[in-house]
Amino acid sequence: MQPRDLSATSPYVPGRGIEEVARDLGLDPTDLIKLSSNENPHGSSPKAVEAVHQQADDGLHVYPKASHTDLTEKLAAKWGVADEQIWVSPGADGAIDYLSRAMLEPGQSVLVPDPGFSYYRMSTRHHHGEINEYELSKADGFEQTADLVLDSYDGERIIHITSPHNPTGSEWTREEIRTLLDEVDDETLVVVDEAYGEYSEEPSSIDLLSEFDNLAVLRTFSKAYGLAGLRIGYAAVPESWADAYARVNTPFAANEVACRAALAALDDDDHVEQSVDSAQWAREYMQENLDAPTFDSAANFVLADVGDASRVAEASQRAGVIIRDCSSFGLPGCVRISCGTREQTKTAVETLNEIVAEVTPT
Ligand code: PMP
Repeated sequence: MQPRDLSATSPYVPGRGIEEVARDLGLDPTDLIKLSSNENPHGSSPKAVEAVHQQADDGLHVYPKASHTDLTEKLAAKWGVADEQIWVSPGADGAIDYLSRAMLEPGQSVLVPDPGFSYYRMSTRHHHGEINEYELSKADGFEQTADLVLDSYDGERIIHITSPHNPTGSEWTREEIRTLLDEVDDETLVVVDEAYGEYSEEPSSIDLLSEFDNLAVLRTFSKAYGLAGLRIGYAAVPESWADAYARVNTPFAANEVACRAALAALDDDDHVEQSVDSAQWAREYMQENLDAPTFDSAANFVLADVGDASRVAEASQRAGVIIRDCSSFGLPGCVRISCGTREQTKTAVETLNEIVAEVTPT
């Protein structure tokens, strides 16, 4: 027996884990710096960690119910929307699936950025949709505008936009998002992915939900809240179709421990603030000190144009700094370096500058 024809679905390529790289290189994992997956170098909020311990003591044998309701209510209050408008999910990835399930009929098309986050494509394929692309141009600094998307738009059912964008760090302005929402068909859903939203100074698009009912906004606890390992995120959707959640969500997919940790993390403003300040410092440090062209970034990483990404990423890994080769994003000249702590970021820059000097022909 075989699965259905999955040949058009490219496998997800994650940043390499510290243990697997350490094993390959025969190194101690503690000697490695992992800056390949845009994780929070300051870890999770201590309040969230305490909540995880507490939940383990209280018991893990019951399905998550009250915690899910409490998290939904807390997020709704934070954003000033109705509880129904918050679709809690296992990571923002889970919310992408819920939106695909809710919106796509087989054969309908979805417009995605190229380069871009690969799960938009995977989720579309899983839900029997077709993929069209809009291109962000390296020559234009990966600028994102309504015109750029509208040039490729052909009435697709869903358009994914990412702000700040992975892997480039570029972002949308409020005005451009508004223009896009105004220009597309009423039956086209614009999904604004704000997985890196905390690191940006642009406002969240969640407040546009009161004006547009063809908008959904994704957020996650994986980045600034440092809970990537627990898989917890959400979509904010318009009131008019918010009740579809009950029909599309996987029962209890957002688990008890994750919901409790997210609730506690929402009470720890200091941790988020420290994480965001630190990322802002790190991206400026990289932009100023890397001996390679970098792109403006509003996220917790910087894209650098190093010429031969796979060679540079491999050499960097051998030297103990794991970064992301962006060839799989269609950018064979670029590497993406996540913001580390001050010490990690300085080491990464020093290491990369040595490698770039060796690899780049003079
Ligand atoms: N959107 C973007 C743009 C991302 O980069 C990521 C994480 N790599 C996600 C969504 C998914 O995040 P989560 O961990 O919440 O599933």
